[in-house]
Order: sequence, then C-alpha cells, then structure tokens
Amino acid sequence: MMIPFLDLGAAYRELKPEIDAAVSRVLESGWYILGPEVEAFEAEWAAYSEAGHAVGVANGLDALRLALRALDIGPGDEVIVPSNTYIATWLAVSGVGASPVPVEPDPATHNIDPARIEAAITPRTRALLPVHLYGQPADLDPILDIACRHKLRVIEDAAQAHGARYKGRRIGAHGDIVCWSFYPGKNLGALGDAGAITTNDHALAERVALLRNYGSRKKYVNEEAGVNSRLDPLQAAVLRVKLTVLDAWAERRRAVAAAYAEGLAATDLTLPHVPDWAEPAWHLYVVRTPGRDVLQARLTEAGIGTLIHYPIPPHMQAAYAGLGIAPEALPLARQLAGEVLSLPMGPQLDLGDVHHITAQIRNT
Ligand SMILES: *Cc1c(COP(=O)(O)O)cnc(C)c1O
Repeated sequence: MMIPFLDLGAAYRELKPEIDAAVSRVLESGWYILGPEVEAFEAEWAAYSEAGHAVGVANGLDALRLALRALDIGPGDEVIVPSNTYIATWLAVSGVGASPVPVEPDPATHNIDPARIEAAITPRTRALLPVHLYGQPADLDPILDIACRHKLRVIEDAAQAHGARYKGRRIGAHGDIVCWSFYPGKNLGALGDAGAITTNDHALAERVALLRNYGSRKKYVNEEAGVNSRLDPLQAAVLRVKLTVLDAWAERRRAVAAAYAEGLAATDLTLPHVPDWAEPAWHLYVVRTPGRDVLQARLTEAGIGTLIHYPIPPHMQAAYAGLGIAPEALPLARQLAGEVLSLPMGPQLDLGDVHHITAQIRNT
C-alpha cells in the first residue's frame, strides 16, 4: 500500500521521546494499577471535554456497559440506538440484558434522526443512546428535549468524537453520561485498549468508579458486584502525552477534510454534510456512492488504502439474528452499508497524498 488508510507507527514516531519517557516513568514508579497517572489523565480529560468528572475504564465497550449499569438499566429495559453504528453500541445494551431498539439515521448526516425517535419509545424505554458517528456530533438538542419530555436518560457514544463541538461546546457532558474509546485508531488513541466516561453528575461518576473496580472503594470491601475494567496507568501516561497534541492533530484532520472537499467537489460522490452547528472531529472522512465496490477496488489497485464503516449493519449480523429484524426493516442502515467508503484520514497523512487520492478518484 503506497498510502495506508491510517499510519499509527508514524503517530508514535512523531511523539517517540515523550511517549518513551512517559512509559519509563510508569515502569520506574512501581505503580501499575490505577493511581496517580490514571487520576491525572482523568482530571485532564474531564477539563478537555468540558465535563465535571472523568473515570477511566478498560475500553469503549466497557464505558458504555458501565454507563448503562450505573443508570440501573438492565433486563426488561429498552434503549434506543442508531440502526447505523458500530456494533459495540448495540452490544453494550444487550450485554447488560436490555434490548437495543434501532432508529434510522438522517441520510444527510448518517447520525440518528431525532424526528424518528419518538415513534420508537415504549413504556419500557429507559434511555436514548446517540452516537457521534465519524466524529460528526449528533443533533443533541432535540434528543435532549425528547429525553426530558419522556423522562429518559441520554448516554452518548463519543468513541469517534474526541474534541468535536456541538453548538460551540465540546462533546463531553451534554447528555447524562458520555462514553469514550481510546482504541489505537481513535483520534485520541492509546497503545492498546483504553476508555473512559465523562459526566457532570458526581454520583454517576462515583458509581462507574466503583463498578470498574470490583464494586470496591476500600480494598476487600465490595459494595456491589462490579467488574475489573480499570484504565491501565501505562495507557493513561501515553494518553496524557497524546492529549497535548490532540487539538493540533485535529487541525491537520480539518485540513485533510478540506482538501478532500475541494478535490472531490466536482465528482458525483456524496461528500460529508456538516450542519452549521457542528464542528466535527473528522475521525473518518466517509463518501457515498452506489458504485462503492468498484471505486474501492480501483483505489486498492492504485495503492490507496480504504475501509468500510461499516459493511454489515448490526441488525443484519448473525450476532443479532435472535432479534428477528428483517434486513429490509431498516432500509437506510442497509443502504448506507452498501454505499459508504472511508478514505485515508489521519494527522500524519500528507496533503500531497490527499491531492494524489482526489486526482485518482477524479480519473476513475
Ligand atoms: C470504537 C468504538 C466503540 C468501542 O470501543 P472499544 O474501545 O473498541 O471497545 C464503541 N462505539 C463506537 C461508535 C466506536 O467507534
């Protein structure tokens, strides 16, 4: 591949002295579970995401699962999720014993369509779980308004939205609780698995902190049946380094997105639509075309790496065959899965390479 989809090695090399020093600091400290690095990252991440509290956990899926558990959502409850999302959003809901109830996206933004949410609410609905897909904020105000009127909680899946802004304010505490992944490929990525929740609700933050650590505040005293899902101090130390460059790297992502928008304006691809209230994190740059498979094959031949986010919607996965949702019951999710293509995107992607990619696409 001449131009990879994402070059994580290049990201490490750019910060090698700082990351190596941070890792050594943890190794030398002799402190390998929770402790000062995790607490320092939690404070820095809360401040960055304009939230009162952050609690580090082991990964993004656990952040979602623990958020649901902290809100006492479980068997018999329904949670409204996007039909068009990464399967982790649904797996968190079914993982706590509740039922994911899918709602179709606004095809312009690919995010959950607030106008379709109320029709999906039943007496068993407990929460709305919007996803800020591709780093584009979901339209939160109508979602929060519906939640308020129906007395529902709002859990945000912000795994792709580090630093994104909705109406000027960073994603981090619009809803009751916001769930983050620091999977290596995310905008703020660790060197392994990591995740967090942010919230303005002190009691919710305390509950997640308890649940992630065996339900224990005091060693060998277990207040509830928690899990082991702690943020690793080595990853916390790495994340603290990467947080110092997150805004600068976001600026480079914006430049890549702008170069794609300009270079592809004259093609018949559907380009990302950015509502005027949104400042996306540009986790992914996703174009749409009915000729997706042909375009992807031609780019592969030309040495350009692309990915599909996501090729099979959750309701069509074998994992959810038991729900009995017909493929055609969610036609928008199904159609997007057949048409979307993610072009190379990342802070280490050279703008000259972006121009090469857009020229290749114009010539196919
Ligand atoms: C990455 C991701 C997750 C899960 O995060 P992990 O850290 O891999 O568990 C959840 N939701 C969305 C939308 C994601 O992109």
